[in-house]
Amino acid sequence: MAFELPKLPYAMDALAPNISAETLEFHHGKHHAAYVNNLNNLVKGSPNENKSLEEIVKSAPAGGLFNNAAQHFNHSFYWKSLAPRAGGEPKGPVADAIKKSFGSFEEFKKKFSEAATTHFGSGWAWLVKAGDGVAIEALHDAGCPIKENKKPVLVCDVWEHAYYIDYRNARAKYVDAWWNLVNWEFANQNLK
Ligand code: MN
Repeated sequence: MAFELPKLPYAMDALAPNISAETLEFHHGKHHAAYVNNLNNLVKGSPNENKSLEEIVKSAPAGGLFNNAAQHFNHSFYWKSLAPRAGGEPKGPVADAIKKSFGSFEEFKKKFSEAATTHFGSGWAWLVKAGDGVAIEALHDAGCPIKENKKPVLVCDVWEHAYYIDYRNARAKYVDAWWNLVNWEFANQNLK
């Protein structure tokens, strides 16, 4: 069965003004769609055709198949990491895990923002499960925690295509806006 571009879990304009409808139209409708398309072309007629997305991400060697499969996984995870009328301070297990690993939410926010803002080039700022706590991982290009057997909790896409329409070169402003959209409920589900 061919891989499919998942529908966004909200309307195109639901994340504005933090992320505009125009950004989502390009980011979801063009960039993510292209990764899904490329992936389908790469697996067609090969043994990978019957594998799950996770199996392909975990088993593919560095190169086109890994890049497109991981980007499909990463973007699907990114859409769920965001929500309208979200953000603010976390509650529940993710709040406890953050406190355990970083001491306070303020300290964690500072460190995550720093990782996302200073990451050189294209990539992703991930929050992953680490024992009873959580850890920040800045991964390059299509980098994906499941490749290293780590459990992803949240993600911020720091490829330029994620913010250039709304914020031009000002990645820090996009990262500030990302905090207004963080789906802590999704993070809690991932810690179960
Ligand atoms: Mn992206």
